[in-house]
Amino acid sequence: MHKNVTYSLVIPFMNEEEVLPMLMDRLEGFMADLDGPAEVMFIDDGSRDNSAALVAERARQDARFKMIRLSRNFGHQIAVTAGLNEANGDAVIIMDADLQDPPEVAHDLIAKWHEGYEIVHAQRRRREGETLFKKVTANLFYRGLARLSSVDIPRDVGDFRLVDARVVRAIRAMPERDRFLRGMFAWVGFRQCLVQFDRPERQAGETKYPLKKMLKLAMDGVIGFSDAPLRLALWLGALVSLGAMLYGAYIFSMALFTDRFVDGWASTVVILSFLSGMNLLISGVIGLFVGRIHNEAKQRPLYFVSESIGLNEVVRLPDQRRLFQTHNALAG
Ligand code: UDP
Ligand code: MG
Repeated sequence: MHKNVTYSLVIPFMNEEEVLPMLMDRLEGFMADLDGPAEVMFIDDGSRDNSAALVAERARQDARFKMIRLSRNFGHQIAVTAGLNEANGDAVIIMDADLQDPPEVAHDLIAKWHEGYEIVHAQRRRREGETLFKKVTANLFYRGLARLSSVDIPRDVGDFRLVDARVVRAIRAMPERDRFLRGMFAWVGFRQCLVQFDRPERQAGETKYPLKKMLKLAMDGVIGFSDAPLRLALWLGALVSLGAMLYGAYIFSMALFTDRFVDGWASTVVILSFLSGMNLLISGVIGLFVGRIHNEAKQRPLYFVSESIGLNEVVRLPDQRRLFQTHNALAG
């Protein structure tokens, strides 16, 4: 059981004006039930609607609400990273803005944290109101990745989880550019456990994860946490060479022992185009990995912050207990 604890909620959002007021109301109730003070770190991931203004207004009235605005849309994983970099709490809870990760479930995560777990993943038992396509592809992805990956990435776990401040520091020490946080959390180790929940529907607005972003995330997961694609290239190469050798032996023996000539043109064209296809495919796989090296080599910062509200502030509670000193002092 931890004593005198502080909590941070890290919530990235992009164009969520429909759901944010509902979310902030729910969070107020949630924070009132906590056993310690909390801050809500909102990250505006390049919203083009009224979202940031809504949060800013609340943040000016209530110092527990804070906001970082990224200079453009950097994507959900980077937005979460920005939040983790500023979160001060002893326990940090990452959740979506659309109330698909119900704040009430966070109480179960916290209970596990008090038991001594440093990472508590929320695992989806059921998903409400999502398309069959999303359920099927997500299912395939989680199962496929679990097989391919060298680290044990829990299935049906998204980004909803509680992590101890120690884990936050570990993640801060991992500067990789193409980020797949759920893999990174699995990779850092520490004591981890799962809490199951039924995932409700998004409470308002539309999904901000179109197929393209889902594919990019899936790619980052596979390439970042598995070298199976590279090994696949090796096996394919070996297989094709074996086939070529067998075929060569066949042609050779036909020429030696029979008077039938192997008809040349069709087989040559088929084999050649098959082999060039293989070559391209495998260069493509290698290219994906080289692309990541290129991305790392550029050494660009992960994101830029254009504005922030409520950071670096000392929050005084009614009982005058100092909650958060400068965030740097606590983050160090
Ligand atoms: N999000 C974000 N940046 C993006 C896309 C999404 O910050 O580029 C946020 C979004 O506002 C939400 C969370 O990430 O808070 C999860 O997105 P969403 O609910 O649309 O994904 P889904 O639940 O449909 O997979
Ligand atoms: Mg959602």
